[in-house]
Amino acid sequence: MKDRIEIIQGDITHQTVDAIVNAANSALLGGGGVDGAIHKAAGPELLAKCRTLYGCETGYAKITEGYKLPAKYIIHTVGPIWRGGNQNEAILLGNAYRNSLQLAVDNNIKTIAFPSISTGVYRYPVDKASEVALSEISRFLANNRSIKKVTIVCFDSTTFETYNQTYKKLF
Ligand code: ADP
Repeated sequence: MKDRIEIIQGDITHQTVDAIVNAANSALLGGGGVDGAIHKAAGPELLAKCRTLYGCETGYAKITEGYKLPAKYIIHTVGPIWRGGNQNEAILLGNAYRNSLQLAVDNNIKTIAFPSISTGVYRYPVDKASEVALSEISRFLANNRSIKKVTIVCFDSTTFETYNQTYKKLF
């Protein structure tokens, strides 16, 4: 499984993959961080479509087209806000990764790129989030052959280094 996971540093809006994942908020109406970057790059048709989706609960995922992005689809998921670690955060973050991957499989998506969900404005510590992300993704891939490549796109170098350290630790 680990050979189908790749960690890179970059901008997720530039990725040429079947689907990119958006770390959205529950309204699905755009925001800051990666959500803002994706809406800006995809164009106004994305917001128009998102208005018809009536939001998304934490840990779940919804799919749209990619519009002006190189990616064909956008999977919008909502990670948990970090509230100290005893408020089901790890379960909810795992759910966000797993439900995004399941939606990808359901839509015949073979290559998918994730940002570091919840570690920006939602303040989930990157070391803990990277453990949830990598273990959930590898568990999913172990049980599913249809996804060929999962790319984790880290925006900044500290996030990139932390995911690489966790990858070495786990695999
Ligand atoms: P959340 O609300 O889930 O914490 P954020 O967008 O605030 O979401 O942050 C999640 C991660 O996405 C952070 O590591 C942030 O630096 C990163 N990020 C911001 N812009 C981009 C981008 N264009 N491509 C990839 N990652 C990005």
